[in-house]
Amino acid sequence: MKTPGRNFIKAFAKLLIVLILIPEIFPVTTLAQPLQTGDSKQNKKYAYSFKSLSRKTDTDRMQRGLFYLSQSLPRRVLNWSVPGHNLSSLEEADLWLIQQLTGYGYQPEKDATQVRAFGRDLTKPLAHQYAAPPEDAPWFTACNIIAERPGKTNPDDLIVVIAHKDSQSWIASPGANDNAIGTCGALELAYLLRRFKPDHTIRFIFCNEEHTPWTSVTAAENIKSAGKDVLAAINLDGIGVKSPQQAGHLTNVTRFTTPEGEKLADLMDRLNTFHSLKLVQSKYRSEHPGDDDGSFINAGFPWAVLNIGSMPYADPNYHLETDTPDKVDIKNAELTVRLTLAAILYLDTFGRPD
Ligand SMILES: [Zn+2]
Repeated sequence: MKTPGRNFIKAFAKLLIVLILIPEIFPVTTLAQPLQTGDSKQNKKYAYSFKSLSRKTDTDRMQRGLFYLSQSLPRRVLNWSVPGHNLSSLEEADLWLIQQLTGYGYQPEKDATQVRAFGRDLTKPLAHQYAAPPEDAPWFTACNIIAERPGKTNPDDLIVVIAHKDSQSWIASPGANDNAIGTCGALELAYLLRRFKPDHTIRFIFCNEEHTPWTSVTAAENIKSAGKDVLAAINLDGIGVKSPQQAGHLTNVTRFTTPEGEKLADLMDRLNTFHSLKLVQSKYRSEHPGDDDGSFINAGFPWAVLNIGSMPYADPNYHLETDTPDKVDIKNAELTVRLTLAAILYLDTFGRPD
């Protein structure tokens, strides 16, 4: 004979299992009010995608990449090799990135741009000693590494995530905050989205900005000459980087140049609040297009912004030998990755913000 006590325990256990599974099956139920844009189906799709993907961010994975790119490889440049290695340190970084992306199921492609290392002007302040290359400086072939999730309904409209993977070519800096961390942030997004089926093509571009000319110019021009449009380009450079006074604060600045970019900056702010990411989020206007997002604006794609930890850039180790991976705020970088993920999913679901 079964005792009522045992039945009660069984029923209670079943109820517990159901309660545990409900948020797994219906993750949207725990989200706040829908975004103002879109119908309820779109809102649910967006909420489900963000919730299921954003919880898979992994600071350990980002940290391993960061230490490989800025410690195992102490530099990522075309004019210096790790002693005893045949390839330049940037070519080694490229191989590693291709290996990661291939492991995630992408088929990464490379293009080619002729570049030189920057020269060095010792009369300038230490952080700003890059200068035009000397006349006889050798030329190298630099490549962007490009991987994408093809869009189902709008394959010619690109949502671009870009990060420069090289370190400073005129000084022996590991370039951890500038920009191994942005590279690992973009790579983390590629990981999170590796099985996502977007409506618009999501293109990841790992470029070079510490050699000259910048290879993001090639990437943007190639999109233009292929007759494609850039729905938005989000540059990750120095994510989570801030001054020692700001230590402990989780910061992100969205830097924009155009009115379209300002709309993207405002979108970042809304998404940070909507998802309670708790980043200290702000926006910053630059007079002129700059950095790798600027290459898109210059190519005629005004929907381009930069996500960065501080603006003006407040890292005391900027462009110095002391820009080492132990100084990276990985938790802050992870939050910026989640915010950028939200923006990508928003743009793919609802299109550009009003
Ligand atoms: Zn940088």
